[in-house]
Amino acid sequence: AARTSGRARATVWTPELGAAAARRDRLREDVAGAAARGELWLAFQPIVSMGEQRVTGVEALLRWRHPDLGEVPPREFVPVAERAGVIADLQRWALREATTTVAGLPAVDGVPLRLGVNISAAHVAARTLVDDVAGALRCSGLGPERLVLEITEATVRAAGTAVDGDIAALRLMGVHVALDDFGTGSSSLLHLTRLPIDVVKLDRAFVSRVDRDRDSRALCESMVTIGRALGLDVVAEGVETPAQLGVLRGLGVGFAQGFLLARPLPAADLAQVLRENAGALWPGLVGSSAGP
Ligand code: C2E
Ligand code: MG
Ligand code: MG
Ligand code: MG
Repeated sequence: AARTSGRARATVWTPELGAAAARRDRLREDVAGAAARGELWLAFQPIVSMGEQRVTGVEALLRWRHPDLGEVPPREFVPVAERAGVIADLQRWALREATTTVAGLPAVDGVPLRLGVNISAAHVAARTLVDDVAGALRCSGLGPERLVLEITEATVRAAGTAVDGDIAALRLMGVHVALDDFGTGSSSLLHLTRLPIDVVKLDRAFVSRVDRDRDSRALCESMVTIGRALGLDVVAEGVETPAQLGVLRGLGVGFAQGFLLARPLPAADLAQVLRENAGALWPGLVGSSAGP
């Protein structure tokens, strides 16, 4: 809807633009009170160990059910909350809720589940992350070694030096750190050696091509090698097909997450799925071939 001329650039108003702007305004006005009004909820997506063929963790994914606009995706409202300066409030709610939920889940074959929580750069910049994490662990009773904070390289860059001190403090508490969305445009292998992390999550953008594209496979293979050398767990995100899973497993990727294995689920559904699968191998993995 934007028209560009040789000299000047003008945005032509259209009904769609008006509607998009109205939606943005509405989200900006309402996001601050979303937690207090009880409109936030968490979906939990299982993470499966390839070797053990069991769920070993879950990732908490923030959801906002707006009374008029319905479900608003986090890719839309997280940036809005960041700009409105209220992301730390949402994040604090997410940390409390996620740790409490997962602390209440039964262990899977004797092993307590790990919990991944996504962290925003603005939260790091607000300088309350360490306190907020400590508070959530204290309230929920979740062991710090079960918590994995997911950060992206964009977060690391945006948060500047604050992030180094916070990560160091959190790791001293026993909390783990994952580098999220690895393999997207801006990430570099150098970061992997420089950042004190425990887990690297390979982005869906290239996981989705790993069974068809030589470059994606090569990147994945080198990640496994580097992961071994640095003692990192490697998780493939967004696994959707048995073919992808087979290649990833063949390459030695340790963990998988994606719609093939499980969708993000409300807490009650997660608990039920875990109960139903207790003692059994996780379904999506059963019978998948071991590589190309
Ligand atoms: P992410 O951390 O990379 O989370 C993975 C996203 O991939 C989730 O989207 C998940 O639903 C989706 N996904 C998982 N498996 C598959 C698959 O097989 N196929 C496809 N097509 N998608 C899959 P979601 O829940 O919409 O979240 C999007 C992003 O929003 C997250 O990306 C994360 O960056 C951010 N986010 C979510 N929750 C929070 C939060 O509590 N705080 C902050 N700061 N950001 C959050
Ligand atoms: Mg994540
Ligand atoms: Mg991710
Ligand atoms: Mg991703």
